[in-house]
Amino acid sequence: MYEYKEKLIPQSKYSLKCPYLMTPKFIVVHNTANDASAENEIKYMKNNNNPVSFHYAVDDKYVIKAIPENRNAFHAGDGVKGNGNRYGLSVEICYSKSGGERFNEAEKNAAKFISTLLKQYGWDISHVKKHQDFSGKYCPHRTLDLGWGRFLTMIQNYMKEDDEKMTNEERTKFNELVKAVSSLAERVERLDSKMVYGYVDDNMPEWARPTITKLMQKGILKGDEKGNLNLDENMLRTLVILDRAGIFAKIA
Ligand SMILES: [Zn+2]
Repeated sequence: MYEYKEKLIPQSKYSLKCPYLMTPKFIVVHNTANDASAENEIKYMKNNNNPVSFHYAVDDKYVIKAIPENRNAFHAGDGVKGNGNRYGLSVEICYSKSGGERFNEAEKNAAKFISTLLKQYGWDISHVKKHQDFSGKYCPHRTLDLGWGRFLTMIQNYMKEDDEKMTNEERTKFNELVKAVSSLAERVERLDSKMVYGYVDDNMPEWARPTITKLMQKGILKGDEKGNLNLDENMLRTLVILDRAGIFAKIA
């Protein structure tokens, strides 16, 4: 995974490196064709006086932004009015000259980063272009050697992973909701079908049993023809309070 940094070019270089305002329409993928780190790639780009530039450089550790996304960059080789140079967000993948593990990691980071750009802009995979699409240059050379379709699949897999993560978050929220609803439903059911106590037994709350037993012994409580008391909790409470107040003491 990468760390994101910004090393933006100074405004004094805008007229040379990114003179036009731009609303990006797609991403253009490049390989640097050298073995410089992202940081050095950007340093070199900032310091030279060629009208050559790019928005992002990605290596095995960093994604570094050099040019704001609302300005153009000169990377696609299709001229000042070319679609690539005027509408493309350019991503340079580092270490492509020698390849190897550093490059593989850089490519993975680029795929991951591009997947976040696509999501951010609401674009599908058809918005990922290669330098070659605009000028015919064989770039991104090593990514193409290894397989362009393979690279697009990497990006799509990162997008899917993100979707599944979202679904997991949503699932957690959903489970919490289910819990909340079922606990509400339980409470409503308790209110709807009030517990009714028919007899002095284990069902009846312990705090009520002495009072109810006493009232039955005194013949104050008799229940229906089957001896069913039909007392709900409020009635139990009331009887217990009256009992504590000594009301039933006078009744022999
Ligand atoms: Zn290129």
